[in-house]
Amino acid sequence: MFPSPPNGRHMSPASEANGEPVCVVGAGPVGLTAALALRSLGVPVRVLDAQAENRVRPGSRALYVHHDSLRTFERISPGLGETVAAHGIQWSGRRTRHRGRLVFAKDHPPSAGGDLPPYASLRQLDTEAHLLDACRAHGVAFGWSAEVEKVVAGAEGVELRSTDGRRWTAPYVVAADGARSVVRAAIGRRMVGRRSASHHVVVDLADPPGEPVPALREFHYHHPGLDGRHVLVVPFAGGRQVDLQCREGEDPDALMEPARLRGWLSEVVATELVDRVLWVSRYPFLQSVADAFIDDERRVLLAGEAAHLFAPFGARGMNSGIADADAAAVAVATALQATDPQRARSTIDDYDAVRRAAALHNRDAAGQALAHMRPSPGGRLRQHLAAGLAGRVRRCGTWLEKAPYGPRTMATPTSTY
Ligand SMILES: Cc1cc2nc3c(=O)[nH]c(=O)nc-3n(C[C@H](O)[C@H](O)[C@H](O)COP(=O)(O)OP(=O)(O)OC[C@H]3O[C@@H](n4cnc5c(N)ncnc54)[C@H](O)[C@@H]3O)c2cc1C
Repeated sequence: MFPSPPNGRHMSPASEANGEPVCVVGAGPVGLTAALALRSLGVPVRVLDAQAENRVRPGSRALYVHHDSLRTFERISPGLGETVAAHGIQWSGRRTRHRGRLVFAKDHPPSAGGDLPPYASLRQLDTEAHLLDACRAHGVAFGWSAEVEKVVAGAEGVELRSTDGRRWTAPYVVAADGARSVVRAAIGRRMVGRRSASHHVVVDLADPPGEPVPALREFHYHHPGLDGRHVLVVPFAGGRQVDLQCREGEDPDALMEPARLRGWLSEVVATELVDRVLWVSRYPFLQSVADAFIDDERRVLLAGEAAHLFAPFGARGMNSGIADADAAAVAVATALQATDPQRARSTIDDYDAVRRAAALHNRDAAGQALAHMRPSPGGRLRQHLAAGLAGRVRRCGTWLEKAPYGPRTMATPTSTY
């Protein structure tokens, strides 16, 4: 197992003085976290991203920044966890309904302040903006509009080339270039897993100015106004995300047409919200993990969606990518300091073993969430019986509330993700 990050970070900056900076490919939340984590260990870093510096990324995407991730942010860049928490919200409560009937309700008291909260809910692009500010403050170098197309890993390091002919070399590369990772393909790794045949439609709605709308997270099993489809509403700072589960074989695009969209949204949220659509998209449930997270030379480390794809339910996507990024930084910093090449290689091997095992755990947890959302006839009956008993047996309501997000068991001895 690779060493856990030293308390307070800052290993001796052996790599600071000599050689090329470590390259991180991808300036999404995972790449930016990897860069910051490397800087916190005294390692010079360059982040390359295909897009321009002032790009605007669409949609709220990953909203839920878990306590583990906030703690990681705070450790690698003091104040960052608090900043992200301060710009996010905590839900005022949770409600779960089954065919319109309330089966679970819990109100959350406002946070007392002080420690980092259990989570923060904010748009991914806001989390990324805070990460980017911290990267700049900590001296991360950037190469924007640098679409990496060629990756050659050798015994001494890695050469990267972009589509416009620029070239970089680095002793190690952290590949955080997302679901369609070019780096992953270049090192001969492939994704293994499944995708669901059916889709979800996801809509971001802005809160109206003035009177605040209650920040309730709501899950509806078989919403009566939506011909029995499931729907989830997740508030975030400034709005809410509505996630509708399409029926097996249903065309998600039809549900995204403006008139149809307005119609079904009005069954789920307050009337004043239905015309405040910021973004509409669709996605299938994915459960795939790369067959290895490192290359043959032990010079490239895959992290985040370059390494694994999970359904958003359970918030395992971005949060597990942040855990990858942190672990990749420790592995690279340790390998850079190793005087014995075999020790350096085994540190990278350990990254592969630990984070791939975590990804398989997360994939299975997301798979359980999916099985609950699309149950067998027996599973459907269990849900129906639990809903009937929920008024008298609290455990039944709690089960219906928690199961759509999968089990909350630890992915590693020290990380939920
Ligand atoms: C609708 C939706 C809802 C979601 N909800 C959640 C949620 O609730 N919880 C959760 O945890 N996750 C959620 N996710 C997933 C979350 O958005 C991803 O886990 C997260 O963006 C992954 O981060 P990443 O940094 O690995 O990849 P990305 O965010 O995809 O970043 C990859 C970066 O690499 C760059 N890049 C790509 N190719 C190249 C190249 N060849 N050269 C250089 N740069 C390159 C891209 O420009 C991009 O900046 C959701 C996703 C979607 C689409």
